[in-house]
Amino acid sequence: MRFELLRPQSLSEALEFKKQNGEKAKVLAGGTDLLVLLKDQKLTADLVMSLARIRELDFIRFEKGRGVTIGALASHAAVAASPVIQQNFPDLAEACSQVGAVQIQNLGTIGGNLCNASPAADAAPPLLLTDAVLILASARGERSVSVHDFFHGPRQTALQADEILKEIFIPEISGRRGATYLKLGRRKAMEIAIVGVGVAIHLNGSDRVVSECRIAMGSVAPIPVRARRGEVMFKDQEVRDELIEEVAEIAAEEASPISDIRGTRDYRLDMIRVLCRRGVRAALNRALDKKEEGLS
Ligand SMILES: Cc1cc2nc3c(=O)[nH]c(=O)nc-3n(C[C@H](O)[C@H](O)[C@H](O)COP(=O)(O)OP(=O)(O)OC[C@H]3O[C@@H](n4cnc5c(N)ncnc54)[C@H](O)[C@@H]3O)c2cc1C
Repeated sequence: MRFELLRPQSLSEALEFKKQNGEKAKVLAGGTDLLVLLKDQKLTADLVMSLARIRELDFIRFEKGRGVTIGALASHAAVAASPVIQQNFPDLAEACSQVGAVQIQNLGTIGGNLCNASPAADAAPPLLLTDAVLILASARGERSVSVHDFFHGPRQTALQADEILKEIFIPEISGRRGATYLKLGRRKAMEIAIVGVGVAIHLNGSDRVVSECRIAMGSVAPIPVRARRGEVMFKDQEVRDELIEEVAEIAAEEASPISDIRGTRDYRLDMIRVLCRRGVRAALNRALDKKEEGLS
C-alpha cells in the first residue's frame, strides 16, 4: 500500500486540497476503517489527506439553550467520557463506549464512523434519535445536512467530492427524555454490531404519557434506519407490556436485515424484538427519573 500523504495544518488548507483533488484525495481521520480497506486492497488511493493536525476539529462544545456541537475529529473515547454527552445523550455515550476496544475508541473518530457509512456504525442510531445536523464544509462554504438525509447506502453519504464533515450539532432537547443504545455483538467487546437498537422516550409533563418515542436500528438494513411505524404507536399512550410487544414486532417488520457471517436474517429479526423491548423499558426508566429540565 503506497500513497502520497497530505498533512494540512488547518481546515482551510484541507478544503483547498479537497478543492484541487476532489475524490482522489481520500480523507484520513483515525484510519481505523480507511487503512483496513487500503491494506485489504478493497480500496486504492494515490493520495491520502490526514486530518490529524487539524486540532480545531477535535472538540465537544456545549451551549446552554442551544445544544451540543461535536467536532468531526472527536474520538469515541472523548465522546463516551464527556460529562455533557453522558448527561444529555447517554445513548450516544453508550454507543461510543462500545465501539471496538480501547485502542479503536482512542483512534476512531465520530466523524469517521459516520462518513464510513457502515450500516453497523454505532454512533448512527443515537444520532437518528435526535434532530442532529451535520455541517459539511468545502472551499465553496458550509452547508447543513440532517442526519436523517446523510446516509445514502453502504459507504455512500451526502458528502460531495470536495467536502469534509466538519462537525455535528445536536439541538437541545428539554423535558423528560430518556434514551439508551443497546448493541448485540458475538462478543462483549471489539465487535461490530449484529444488531444495534437505540430508543428515546419523551414523557408529557410530569405524567407517564409518552409525547414522543423514537427507535433507530443499525445492522438491519443498507443504512441505519428509524422504526417509524412502531414509534408512533406509543404517541399519547402510557407504556404497557402489550404495547411494547406490538411495537417490537412492528419494528422488526420495518427492518430488512441480510444473513451474513455475523448472523442470519431470522436471528437478527428476533434480536431486534428483544433489544426493542429492553430498550423501551430502559429509556422509559431514564425518562421517569428525570425532572423537567433542559440540557445541563
Ligand atoms: C478492530 C476494529 C473494531 C471496530 N469496531 C467497531 C465497532 O464496534 N463499531 C463501529 O461502529 N465501528 C467499528 N470499527 C470501525 C471504525 O473503528 C469506526 O467506524 C471509526 O469510528 C472510524 O473512524 P476513523 O476516524 O478511524 O475513520 P477513518 O478510517 O479515518 O475514515 C473512515 C471513512 O470516513 C472518511 N472520513 C473520515 N473523517 C472524515 C471527515 N471528517 N470528513 C469526510 N470524510 C471523512 C474517510 O475518508 C473514510 O472513508 C472497528 C474497526 C476496527 C479496525
